Amino acid sequence: MDDHMEPMWDVIVIGAGPSGLMAAIEAGHRGARTLLIEKGKRPGRKLLISGGGRCNVTNARGIDHIIENTPGNGRFLYSVFRQWSNEDIIAFFMGLGVALKEEDRGRMFPVTDRADTVLDALLQLLDKYQVTVRYNQEVSMITHQDEFSWNIHVQDDIYVTRAIIIATGGCSVPQTGSTGDGYRFAKSIGHTIVEPYPTSVPLMADDLWIKERFLQGVAVRGTLLTAYDEKGKVFAKEEGDLLFTHFGLSGPAALRISQYIVKFLARSAGTHAIVTVDLLPGLSKEEVFSKIQQTTKGNGKKLIRSLLRDFLSERFADVLLFILQIDSQMEGAHLSKKDAEKIASLIKAFPVHVTGTLGLSKATVTGGGVFLKEVNPATLASKKEHGLYFCGEVLDVHAHTGGYNITVAFSTGHVAGNHAAEYAIQTNLAFLLGK
Ligand SMILES: Cc1cc2nc3c(=O)[nH]c(=O)nc-3n(C[C@H](O)[C@H](O)[C@H](O)COP(=O)(O)OP(=O)(O)OC[C@H]3O[C@@H](n4cnc5c(N)ncnc54)[C@H](O)[C@@H]3O)c2cc1C
Repeated sequence: MDDHMEPMWDVIVIGAGPSGLMAAIEAGHRGARTLLIEKGKRPGRKLLISGGGRCNVTNARGIDHIIENTPGNGRFLYSVFRQWSNEDIIAFFMGLGVALKEEDRGRMFPVTDRADTVLDALLQLLDKYQVTVRYNQEVSMITHQDEFSWNIHVQDDIYVTRAIIIATGGCSVPQTGSTGDGYRFAKSIGHTIVEPYPTSVPLMADDLWIKERFLQGVAVRGTLLTAYDEKGKVFAKEEGDLLFTHFGLSGPAALRISQYIVKFLARSAGTHAIVTVDLLPGLSKEEVFSKIQQTTKGNGKKLIRSLLRDFLSERFADVLLFILQIDSQMEGAHLSKKDAEKIASLIKAFPVHVTGTLGLSKATVTGGGVFLKEVNPATLASKKEHGLYFCGEVLDVHAHTGGYNITVAFSTGHVAGNHAAEYAIQTNLAFLLGK
Protein backbone atom coordinates (compact mmCIF):
# COMPACT_ATOMS: atom_id res chain seq x y z
CA MET A 1 0.00 0.00 0.00
CA ASP A 2 1.10 3.51 -0.86
CA ASP A 3 1.77 5.23 2.44
CA HIS A 4 0.78 8.69 1.19
CA MET A 5 -0.59 10.52 4.23
CA GLU A 6 -2.60 13.68 4.82
CA PRO A 7 -2.36 15.91 7.89
CA MET A 8 -4.36 14.70 10.89
CA TRP A 9 -8.12 15.29 10.89
CA ASP A 10 -10.03 15.92 14.11
CA VAL A 11 -13.06 13.86 13.12
CA ILE A 12 -13.62 11.51 10.21
CA VAL A 13 -17.18 10.37 9.60
CA ILE A 14 -17.59 7.20 7.54
CA GLY A 15 -20.85 7.19 5.55
CA ALA A 16 -22.98 10.05 4.21
CA GLY A 17 -26.44 8.79 5.13
CA PRO A 18 -28.65 10.89 7.43
CA SER A 19 -26.69 9.92 10.55
CA GLY A 20 -23.27 10.62 9.01
CA LEU A 21 -24.38 13.89 7.40
CA MET A 22 -25.75 15.12 10.72
CA ALA A 23 -22.66 13.92 12.62
CA ALA A 24 -20.35 15.73 10.20
CA ILE A 25 -22.44 18.93 10.36
CA GLU A 26 -22.36 18.93 14.15
CA ALA A 27 -18.63 18.11 14.36
CA GLY A 28 -17.94 20.94 11.89
CA HIS A 29 -20.24 23.26 13.80
CA ARG A 30 -18.26 22.53 17.00
CA GLY A 31 -15.09 23.66 15.23
CA ALA A 32 -13.54 20.26 14.50
CA ARG A 33 -11.63 19.76 11.24
CA THR A 34 -14.00 17.24 9.79
CA LEU A 35 -13.83 14.88 6.82
CA LEU A 36 -16.88 12.95 5.61
CA ILE A 37 -16.08 9.90 3.50
CA GLU A 38 -18.74 8.25 1.33
CA LYS A 39 -18.21 5.24 -0.88
CA GLY A 40 -20.99 6.11 -3.30
CA LYS A 41 -20.86 8.89 -5.84
CA ARG A 42 -23.75 10.66 -4.06
CA PRO A 43 -24.77 11.19 -0.41
CA GLY A 44 -28.01 10.06 1.23
CA ARG A 45 -29.15 7.45 -1.25
CA LYS A 46 -31.38 5.73 1.31
CA LEU A 47 -32.63 9.05 2.64
CA LEU A 48 -33.77 9.93 -0.87
CA ILE A 49 -35.97 6.82 -1.15
CA SER A 50 -37.29 6.98 2.41
CA GLY A 51 -40.92 7.82 3.03
CA GLY A 52 -41.76 6.99 -0.58
CA GLY A 53 -39.22 9.54 -1.85
CA ARG A 54 -40.71 12.29 0.31
CA CYS A 55 -38.40 11.73 3.33
CA ASN A 56 -40.25 11.27 6.55
CA VAL A 57 -37.78 13.50 8.47
CA THR A 58 -39.15 12.84 11.94
CA ASN A 59 -42.30 12.28 13.97
CA ALA A 60 -43.98 15.14 15.80
CA ARG A 61 -45.20 13.11 18.80
CA GLY A 62 -43.38 12.97 22.14
CA ILE A 63 -40.16 11.15 22.95
CA ASP A 64 -42.05 8.37 24.75
CA HIS A 65 -44.05 7.73 21.59
CA ILE A 66 -40.87 7.57 19.52
CA ILE A 67 -39.27 5.17 21.97
CA GLU A 68 -42.41 2.98 21.95
CA ASN A 69 -42.13 2.85 18.18
CA THR A 70 -38.49 1.84 18.39
CA PRO A 71 -38.95 -1.81 19.42
CA GLY A 72 -35.25 -2.52 18.81
CA ASN A 73 -33.71 -1.11 22.02
CA GLY A 74 -35.52 2.24 21.99
CA ARG A 75 -34.79 2.78 25.69
CA PHE A 76 -31.09 3.13 24.89
CA LEU A 77 -32.02 6.46 23.27
CA TYR A 78 -33.38 8.38 26.29
CA SER A 79 -30.07 10.09 26.86
CA VAL A 80 -29.61 10.88 23.16
CA PHE A 81 -33.11 12.40 22.92
CA ARG A 82 -32.52 14.45 26.05
CA GLN A 83 -29.64 16.07 24.14
CA TRP A 84 -31.29 16.32 20.70
CA SER A 85 -34.88 15.26 20.15
CA ASN A 86 -37.50 15.24 17.40
CA GLU A 87 -38.39 18.80 18.39
CA ASP A 88 -34.80 19.84 17.79
CA ILE A 89 -34.90 18.16 14.38
CA ILE A 90 -38.05 20.11 13.49
CA ALA A 91 -36.53 23.39 14.71
CA PHE A 92 -33.28 22.59 12.87
CA PHE A 93 -34.99 22.17 9.49
CA MET A 94 -37.36 25.09 10.01
CA GLY A 95 -34.27 27.20 10.84
CA LEU A 96 -32.74 26.15 7.52
CA GLY A 97 -35.84 27.28 5.68
CA VAL A 98 -37.14 23.75 5.08
CA ALA A 99 -40.83 24.07 5.93
CA LEU A 100 -42.30 20.86 7.33
CA LYS A 101 -45.87 19.59 7.55
CA GLU A 102 -47.42 17.01 9.84
CA GLU A 103 -49.39 14.11 8.36
CA ASP A 104 -51.22 11.19 9.98
CA ARG A 105 -49.72 9.60 13.12
CA GLY A 106 -47.37 12.54 13.61
CA ARG A 107 -45.29 11.88 10.51
CA MET A 108 -43.37 14.99 9.41
CA PHE A 109 -42.48 15.67 5.77
CA PRO A 110 -41.03 18.64 3.88
CA VAL A 111 -43.90 20.66 2.38
CA THR A 112 -42.26 20.16 -1.01
CA ASP A 113 -42.90 16.41 -0.65
CA ARG A 114 -39.37 15.92 -1.96
CA ALA A 115 -36.55 14.22 -0.09
CA ASP A 116 -33.94 16.22 -2.02
CA THR A 117 -35.13 19.39 -0.26
CA VAL A 118 -33.93 17.83 2.99
CA LEU A 119 -30.69 16.55 1.51
CA ASP A 120 -29.85 19.88 -0.16
CA ALA A 121 -30.28 21.72 3.15
CA LEU A 122 -27.90 19.30 4.86
CA LEU A 123 -25.31 19.67 2.09
CA GLN A 124 -25.43 23.47 2.36
CA LEU A 125 -24.71 23.22 6.05
CA LEU A 126 -21.71 20.95 5.43
CA ASP A 127 -20.36 23.73 3.24
CA LYS A 128 -21.10 26.38 5.83
CA TYR A 129 -19.15 24.49 8.50
CA GLN A 130 -16.31 23.73 6.07
CA VAL A 131 -16.66 19.99 6.26
CA THR A 132 -14.60 18.30 3.54
CA VAL A 133 -16.60 15.64 1.72
CA ARG A 134 -15.05 12.92 -0.42
CA TYR A 135 -17.24 10.68 -2.57
CA ASN A 136 -16.33 7.42 -4.33
CA GLN A 137 -14.03 6.57 -1.43
CA GLU A 138 -14.67 3.22 0.19
CA VAL A 139 -13.17 2.70 3.61
CA SER A 140 -11.73 -0.80 3.71
CA MET A 141 -10.30 -0.92 7.23
CA ILE A 142 -9.68 1.13 10.36
CA THR A 143 -6.59 0.61 12.48
CA HIS A 144 -4.77 2.34 15.30
CA GLN A 145 -2.07 4.84 14.45
CA ASP A 146 -1.32 5.12 18.18
CA GLU A 147 -3.38 5.28 21.37
CA PHE A 148 -4.87 8.68 20.47
CA SER A 149 -5.20 8.55 16.71
CA TRP A 150 -6.64 6.30 14.03
CA ASN A 151 -5.81 5.26 10.47
CA ILE A 152 -8.65 5.11 8.00
CA HIS A 153 -7.71 3.03 4.97
CA VAL A 154 -9.30 4.11 1.69
CA GLN A 155 -8.08 2.49 -1.50
CA ASP A 156 -4.41 3.51 -1.65
CA ASP A 157 -4.68 6.28 0.91
CA ILE A 158 -4.58 6.41 4.68
CA TYR A 159 -6.30 9.25 6.50
CA VAL A 160 -5.27 9.93 10.09
CA THR A 161 -7.74 11.24 12.61
CA ARG A 162 -8.26 11.78 16.31
CA ALA A 163 -11.84 10.53 16.27
CA ILE A 164 -13.85 8.28 13.99
CA ILE A 165 -17.62 8.18 13.68
CA ILE A 166 -18.91 5.00 12.09
CA ALA A 167 -22.16 5.90 10.29
CA THR A 168 -22.24 3.15 7.68
CA GLY A 169 -25.88 2.09 8.24
CA GLY A 170 -27.18 -1.49 8.31
CA CYS A 171 -27.24 -3.97 5.45
CA SER A 172 -30.74 -3.73 4.03
CA VAL A 173 -31.27 -2.49 0.45
CA PRO A 174 -27.50 -2.80 -0.21
CA GLN A 175 -27.71 -1.00 -3.56
CA THR A 176 -27.95 2.23 -1.49
CA GLY A 177 -24.42 1.57 -0.16
CA SER A 178 -25.43 0.06 3.19
CA THR A 179 -23.57 -3.24 2.97
CA GLY A 180 -22.73 -3.85 6.61
CA ASP A 181 -19.12 -2.58 6.40
CA GLY A 182 -19.39 -0.87 9.78
CA TYR A 183 -20.03 -4.20 11.50
CA ARG A 184 -16.74 -5.47 10.09
CA PHE A 185 -14.84 -2.36 11.24
CA ALA A 186 -16.35 -2.55 14.74
CA LYS A 187 -15.66 -6.27 15.03
CA SER A 188 -12.06 -5.85 13.91
CA ILE A 189 -11.39 -3.61 16.91
CA GLY A 190 -13.07 -5.85 19.46
CA HIS A 191 -16.77 -4.87 19.37
CA THR A 192 -19.49 -7.49 19.54
CA ILE A 193 -22.02 -7.49 16.69
CA VAL A 194 -25.55 -8.68 17.31
CA GLU A 195 -26.27 -10.78 14.22
CA PRO A 196 -28.16 -8.57 11.73
CA TYR A 197 -31.73 -9.58 10.80
CA PRO A 198 -34.46 -8.09 8.62
CA THR A 199 -37.12 -5.83 10.15
CA SER A 200 -39.97 -3.86 8.60
CA VAL A 201 -40.02 -6.56 5.94
CA PRO A 202 -42.88 -8.33 4.10
CA LEU A 203 -44.05 -11.74 5.37
CA MET A 204 -44.11 -14.97 3.36
CA ALA A 205 -47.02 -17.42 3.70
CA ASP A 206 -47.84 -20.81 2.24
CA ASP A 207 -51.65 -20.85 2.37
CA LEU A 208 -53.36 -22.04 -0.78
CA TRP A 209 -55.05 -18.69 -1.46
CA ILE A 210 -51.68 -16.98 -1.24
CA LYS A 211 -49.90 -19.52 -3.44
CA GLU A 212 -52.74 -19.49 -5.97
CA ARG A 213 -52.64 -15.66 -5.85
CA PHE A 214 -56.39 -15.39 -5.13
CA LEU A 215 -55.76 -12.37 -2.92
CA GLN A 216 -52.80 -10.80 -4.72
CA GLY A 217 -53.18 -7.02 -4.71
CA VAL A 218 -56.07 -6.96 -2.23
CA ALA A 219 -55.57 -4.11 0.26
CA VAL A 220 -57.48 -3.92 3.54
CA ARG A 221 -57.57 -0.78 5.65
CA GLY A 222 -57.16 -0.74 9.44
CA THR A 223 -56.61 -4.42 10.25
CA LEU A 224 -55.36 -5.96 13.48
CA LEU A 225 -52.77 -8.71 13.15
CA THR A 226 -52.20 -11.18 15.99
CA ALA A 227 -49.30 -13.65 15.94
CA TYR A 228 -49.48 -16.94 17.86
CA ASP A 229 -46.80 -19.43 18.84
CA GLU A 230 -47.21 -23.20 18.45
CA LYS A 231 -49.05 -23.42 21.79
CA GLY A 232 -51.56 -20.78 20.72
CA LYS A 233 -50.04 -18.09 22.91
CA VAL A 234 -50.10 -14.56 21.49
CA PHE A 235 -46.61 -13.14 21.01
CA ALA A 236 -47.34 -9.98 18.99
CA LYS A 237 -50.17 -7.71 17.90
CA GLU A 238 -49.99 -4.83 15.42
CA GLU A 239 -52.55 -2.62 13.73
CA GLY A 240 -52.54 -1.01 10.31
CA ASP A 241 -53.33 -1.36 6.65
CA LEU A 242 -52.51 -4.66 4.99
CA LEU A 243 -51.68 -5.74 1.46
CA PHE A 244 -51.92 -9.34 0.20
CA THR A 245 -49.15 -10.14 -2.27
CA HIS A 246 -48.17 -13.10 -4.44
CA PHE A 247 -45.89 -14.39 -1.66
CA GLY A 248 -47.71 -13.32 1.53
CA LEU A 249 -48.43 -10.09 3.37
CA SER A 250 -47.09 -6.58 3.09
CA GLY A 251 -48.24 -3.08 4.07
CA PRO A 252 -47.72 -1.26 7.37
CA ALA A 253 -49.31 -3.88 9.67
CA ALA A 254 -47.22 -6.72 8.20
CA LEU A 255 -44.03 -4.65 8.29
CA ARG A 256 -44.65 -3.69 11.93
CA ILE A 257 -45.18 -7.27 13.09
CA SER A 258 -42.34 -8.73 10.99
CA GLN A 259 -39.54 -8.28 13.54
CA TYR A 260 -41.46 -10.36 16.11
CA ILE A 261 -41.99 -13.11 13.53
CA VAL A 262 -38.28 -13.13 12.65
CA LYS A 263 -37.34 -13.45 16.33
CA PHE A 264 -40.03 -16.09 16.99
CA LEU A 265 -38.98 -18.27 14.04
CA ALA A 266 -35.32 -17.97 15.05
CA ARG A 267 -35.95 -19.17 18.62
CA SER A 268 -38.68 -21.77 17.97
CA ALA A 269 -38.35 -25.17 16.41
CA GLY A 270 -41.48 -24.48 14.35
CA THR A 271 -41.54 -23.78 10.65
CA HIS A 272 -44.26 -21.16 10.77
CA ALA A 273 -46.24 -18.77 12.92
CA ILE A 274 -50.01 -18.38 12.73
CA VAL A 275 -51.01 -14.80 12.14
CA THR A 276 -54.69 -13.97 12.26
CA VAL A 277 -56.06 -10.94 10.47
CA ASP A 278 -58.96 -9.14 12.12
CA LEU A 279 -60.61 -7.50 9.13
CA LEU A 280 -63.02 -5.44 11.22
CA PRO A 281 -61.25 -4.66 14.51
CA GLY A 282 -63.77 -1.93 15.37
CA LEU A 283 -66.55 -4.51 15.81
CA SER A 284 -66.86 -7.48 18.15
CA LYS A 285 -67.52 -10.94 16.72
CA GLU A 286 -71.12 -10.71 17.95
CA GLU A 287 -71.59 -7.36 16.22
CA VAL A 288 -70.19 -8.72 12.95
CA PHE A 289 -72.49 -11.74 13.27
CA SER A 290 -75.61 -9.64 13.84
CA LYS A 291 -74.67 -7.33 10.93
CA ILE A 292 -74.35 -10.37 8.66
CA GLN A 293 -77.72 -11.63 9.88
CA GLN A 294 -79.36 -8.25 9.29
CA THR A 295 -77.86 -7.89 5.81
CA THR A 296 -78.71 -11.39 4.65
CA LYS A 297 -82.23 -11.41 6.08
CA GLY A 298 -82.99 -7.90 4.81
CA ASN A 299 -81.83 -8.76 1.27
CA GLY A 300 -82.86 -12.39 1.11
CA LYS A 301 -82.91 -12.56 -2.69
CA LYS A 302 -79.39 -11.27 -3.18
CA LEU A 303 -76.44 -13.64 -3.53
CA ILE A 304 -74.43 -14.15 -0.39
CA ARG A 305 -71.26 -13.17 -2.29
CA SER A 306 -72.69 -9.72 -3.12
CA LEU A 307 -74.05 -9.21 0.38
CA LEU A 308 -70.65 -9.75 1.94
CA ARG A 309 -69.43 -6.76 -0.07
CA ASP A 310 -70.73 -4.62 2.80
CA PHE A 311 -67.81 -6.00 4.82
CA LEU A 312 -65.17 -7.23 2.39
CA SER A 313 -63.91 -6.90 -1.16
CA GLU A 314 -65.52 -9.38 -3.54
CA ARG A 315 -62.31 -11.38 -3.92
CA PHE A 316 -61.95 -11.65 -0.18
CA ALA A 317 -65.58 -12.76 0.12
CA ASP A 318 -64.96 -15.48 -2.46
CA VAL A 319 -61.94 -16.78 -0.53
CA LEU A 320 -63.86 -16.76 2.74
CA LEU A 321 -66.77 -18.69 1.24
CA PHE A 322 -64.34 -21.08 -0.44
CA ILE A 323 -62.59 -21.82 2.88
CA LEU A 324 -65.93 -22.37 4.61
CA GLN A 325 -67.26 -24.40 1.69
CA ILE A 326 -70.33 -22.16 1.45
CA ASP A 327 -71.89 -21.81 -1.99
CA SER A 328 -71.16 -18.23 -3.09
CA GLN A 329 -74.24 -18.31 -5.35
CA MET A 330 -76.53 -19.04 -2.41
CA GLU A 331 -79.22 -16.43 -1.72
CA GLY A 332 -78.87 -14.48 1.52
CA ALA A 333 -82.09 -15.82 2.97
CA HIS A 334 -80.68 -19.37 2.90
CA LEU A 335 -77.57 -18.62 4.96
CA SER A 336 -77.81 -20.65 8.16
CA LYS A 337 -77.10 -19.12 11.56
CA LYS A 338 -74.19 -21.53 11.94
CA ASP A 339 -72.63 -20.42 8.64
CA ALA A 340 -73.19 -16.73 9.54
CA GLU A 341 -71.28 -17.41 12.77
CA LYS A 342 -68.48 -19.09 10.86
CA ILE A 343 -68.19 -16.12 8.49
CA ALA A 344 -68.11 -13.72 11.46
CA SER A 345 -65.36 -15.80 13.09
CA LEU A 346 -63.27 -15.77 9.93
CA ILE A 347 -63.73 -12.03 9.44
CA LYS A 348 -62.45 -11.52 13.00
CA ALA A 349 -59.58 -14.01 12.74
CA PHE A 350 -58.57 -14.86 9.18
CA PRO A 351 -55.61 -17.23 9.64
CA VAL A 352 -52.41 -16.97 7.64
CA HIS A 353 -49.56 -19.48 7.95
CA VAL A 354 -46.46 -17.30 7.93
CA THR A 355 -43.32 -19.24 7.04
CA GLY A 356 -40.82 -16.40 7.27
CA THR A 357 -39.99 -13.03 5.84
CA LEU A 358 -38.19 -11.76 2.80
CA GLY A 359 -34.44 -11.41 3.33
CA LEU A 360 -32.30 -8.59 4.65
CA SER A 361 -31.77 -7.12 1.20
CA LYS A 362 -35.53 -6.48 0.94
CA ALA A 363 -35.97 -5.20 4.49
CA THR A 364 -36.62 -1.52 5.13
CA VAL A 365 -34.50 -1.58 8.27
CA THR A 366 -31.77 -3.83 9.72
CA GLY A 367 -32.14 -5.23 13.23
CA GLY A 368 -29.00 -6.16 15.18
CA GLY A 369 -25.70 -4.31 14.87
CA VAL A 370 -23.13 -2.88 17.27
CA PHE A 371 -23.86 -4.30 20.75
CA LEU A 372 -25.19 -1.46 22.88
CA LYS A 373 -23.64 -2.55 26.17
CA GLU A 374 -20.30 -1.63 24.62
CA VAL A 375 -21.43 1.91 23.70
CA ASN A 376 -21.86 4.84 26.10
CA PRO A 377 -25.52 5.92 25.70
CA ALA A 378 -24.74 9.54 26.65
CA THR A 379 -21.93 10.12 24.14
CA LEU A 380 -22.23 7.17 21.69
CA ALA A 381 -18.52 6.57 22.28
CA SER A 382 -17.12 3.06 22.25
CA LYS A 383 -16.51 1.74 25.76
CA LYS A 384 -13.61 -0.24 24.33
CA GLU A 385 -11.55 2.33 22.45
CA HIS A 386 -10.77 6.05 22.72
CA GLY A 387 -12.04 8.28 19.95
CA LEU A 388 -14.48 5.83 18.36
CA TYR A 389 -18.18 6.72 17.98
CA PHE A 390 -21.23 5.12 16.35
CA CYS A 391 -24.49 6.54 15.05
CA GLY A 392 -27.52 5.51 13.02
CA GLU A 393 -28.57 2.08 11.85
CA VAL A 394 -25.14 0.50 12.44
CA LEU A 395 -26.13 0.44 16.13
CA ASP A 396 -28.35 -2.39 17.43
CA VAL A 397 -31.39 -0.08 17.31
CA HIS A 398 -34.31 -0.33 14.92
CA ALA A 399 -37.68 1.35 14.74
CA HIS A 400 -40.95 1.03 12.89
CA THR A 401 -41.30 3.13 9.77
CA GLY A 402 -43.04 6.46 10.40
CA GLY A 403 -40.04 8.77 10.69
CA TYR A 404 -38.67 7.00 13.75
CA ASN A 405 -35.55 5.52 12.09
CA ILE A 406 -34.61 8.81 10.54
CA THR A 407 -35.13 10.48 13.91
CA VAL A 408 -32.75 7.90 15.39
CA ALA A 409 -30.24 8.59 12.60
CA PHE A 410 -30.37 12.40 12.96
CA SER A 411 -30.39 12.44 16.77
CA THR A 412 -27.61 9.88 17.23
CA GLY A 413 -25.64 11.62 14.44
CA HIS A 414 -25.92 14.97 16.17
CA VAL A 415 -24.91 13.56 19.56
CA ALA A 416 -21.98 11.50 18.17
CA GLY A 417 -20.77 14.53 16.16
CA ASN A 418 -20.87 16.76 19.19
CA HIS A 419 -19.00 14.38 21.50
CA ALA A 420 -16.46 13.26 18.90
CA ALA A 421 -15.60 16.91 18.17
CA GLU A 422 -15.25 17.66 21.87
CA TYR A 423 -13.04 14.61 22.39
CA ALA A 424 -10.80 15.53 19.42
CA ILE A 425 -10.44 19.18 20.40
CA GLN A 426 -9.71 18.30 24.04
CA THR A 427 -7.17 15.64 23.05
CA ASN A 428 -5.41 18.07 20.69
CA LEU A 429 -5.30 20.63 23.47
CA ALA A 430 -3.83 18.14 25.91
CA PHE A 431 -1.09 17.30 23.39
CA LEU A 432 -0.45 20.98 22.78
CA LEU A 433 -0.06 21.60 26.48
CA GLY A 434 2.14 18.55 26.74
CA LYS A 435 -0.15 16.72 29.15
C1 LIG B 1 -37.20 2.00 1.01
C2 LIG B 1 -36.93 2.57 2.38
C3 LIG B 1 -37.86 3.43 2.94
C4 LIG B 1 -37.64 3.94 4.23
N1 LIG B 1 -38.57 4.78 4.76
C5 LIG B 1 -38.39 5.26 6.00
C6 LIG B 1 -39.34 6.11 6.59
O1 LIG B 1 -40.35 6.45 5.98
N2 LIG B 1 -39.11 6.57 7.86
C7 LIG B 1 -37.98 6.20 8.55
O2 LIG B 1 -37.81 6.64 9.69
N3 LIG B 1 -37.05 5.41 8.02
C8 LIG B 1 -37.22 4.92 6.77
N4 LIG B 1 -36.28 4.10 6.23
C9 LIG B 1 -35.08 3.78 7.03
C10 LIG B 1 -34.04 4.92 6.99
O3 LIG B 1 -33.87 5.37 5.66
C11 LIG B 1 -32.70 4.40 7.55
O4 LIG B 1 -32.90 3.92 8.86
C12 LIG B 1 -31.65 5.51 7.56
O5 LIG B 1 -31.32 5.89 6.25
C13 LIG B 1 -30.38 5.03 8.27
O6 LIG B 1 -29.45 6.07 8.20
P1 LIG B 1 -27.89 5.81 8.41
O7 LIG B 1 -27.24 7.12 8.17
O8 LIG B 1 -27.65 5.12 9.68
O9 LIG B 1 -27.48 4.78 7.27
P2 LIG B 1 -27.65 4.82 5.68
O10 LIG B 1 -28.73 5.73 5.26
O11 LIG B 1 -27.73 3.38 5.30
O12 LIG B 1 -26.27 5.44 5.16
C14 LIG B 1 -25.04 4.77 5.30
C15 LIG B 1 -24.05 5.39 4.32
O13 LIG B 1 -22.74 4.84 4.58
C16 LIG B 1 -22.08 4.60 3.36
N5 LIG B 1 -21.07 3.58 3.55
C17 LIG B 1 -21.27 2.30 3.94
N6 LIG B 1 -20.10 1.64 4.00
C18 LIG B 1 -19.14 2.53 3.67
C19 LIG B 1 -17.72 2.43 3.53
N7 LIG B 1 -17.05 1.28 3.72
N8 LIG B 1 -17.02 3.56 3.17
C20 LIG B 1 -17.68 4.72 2.93
N9 LIG B 1 -19.01 4.86 3.01
C21 LIG B 1 -19.74 3.77 3.39
C22 LIG B 1 -23.21 4.16 2.43
O14 LIG B 1 -22.86 4.27 1.07
C23 LIG B 1 -24.35 5.06 2.87
O15 LIG B 1 -24.36 6.26 2.12
C24 LIG B 1 -36.47 3.59 4.94
C25 LIG B 1 -35.54 2.73 4.35
C26 LIG B 1 -35.76 2.23 3.08
C27 LIG B 1 -34.75 1.29 2.49
